[in-house]
Amino acid sequence: MGLTLTVLGCDGGYPAPGGAASGYLVRGAGTTLWLDAGPGTLANLQRHVSLDELDAVVLSHEHPDHRSDVEGLAVALSLGGSRPGTAPCGVAVDGRPSLPVYAPAGLAGQVYHDGSPGLTWHEVAEGDRIRVGGLDLVFSRTDHGPPTLAVRVDGDGACLGYSADSGPAWSLEALGTDLDLALCEATYCARDEGRSQHMSARQAATSAVEAGVRHLVVTHRWPTVSAEEVFEEASEAWGRPVDQARMGATWEVGAPAPGPVGSPPPPGSMIVRATGDDPTGRAIGGRL
Ligand SMILES: [Zn+2]
Ligand SMILES: [Zn+2]
Repeated sequence: MGLTLTVLGCDGGYPAPGGAASGYLVRGAGTTLWLDAGPGTLANLQRHVSLDELDAVVLSHEHPDHRSDVEGLAVALSLGGSRPGTAPCGVAVDGRPSLPVYAPAGLAGQVYHDGSPGLTWHEVAEGDRIRVGGLDLVFSRTDHGPPTLAVRVDGDGACLGYSADSGPAWSLEALGTDLDLALCEATYCARDEGRSQHMSARQAATSAVEAGVRHLVVTHRWPTVSAEEVFEEASEAWGRPVDQARMGATWEVGAPAPGPVGSPPPPGSMIVRATGDDPTGRAIGGRL
């Protein structure tokens, strides 16, 4: 029961040495989503699932650090993906449909392989609600240059929110005030606030506090910014240690054990477990 969030890449802007830019795997309710496809994330995705297991791809916006690996995905599907016996162009011999890609208006036109029959493009916008398998998604336009969509994912009794890229004029509250886990961009520290349409670590944590988030994971740090500084600043504003995204880390957001029949689950009883290599901020401080 519940949702799992696995980090395929979390570097802001461009991949650090040996790293990957934004990309996440969300699994739950029998459904597998690839959320953002930054450079390096296609390779990492296949460490966890085969391409055949994907139910959909969701791209938050057109900046290459969030979508460039969809090019490789289109090629992989045209070559038969990872499943022997799959016909070219991503349509399996058993009639498997092409893979849906949800993205803001205008993004598909920037993709070299946008005409690939292995992919079916769908435009999404502010306030749109879609269902992918057993997961419900709702989108929110953020404070970022090109059309950019944060997303909330509900399934199996748990929910998580992803800020995508955003400046501080947007808040996690736009995704609701009951998020079990928020994955929020924290690109730099407070001294750089206003430098770009992004959030500092302080702003990300403040947004999470205001939204009543239960568990905060900060991500999208520029490789030029200190992980330790982001951790310290975000934790101070959050009031307790935050987690920092790290490639390969997985968070499990689980529904509480059912109580007596008819009784509501106790508030705040969601379970969040982190696995993988040192998913806490302190453990990665000073790397890069
Ligand atoms: Zn970005
Ligand atoms: Zn961006």
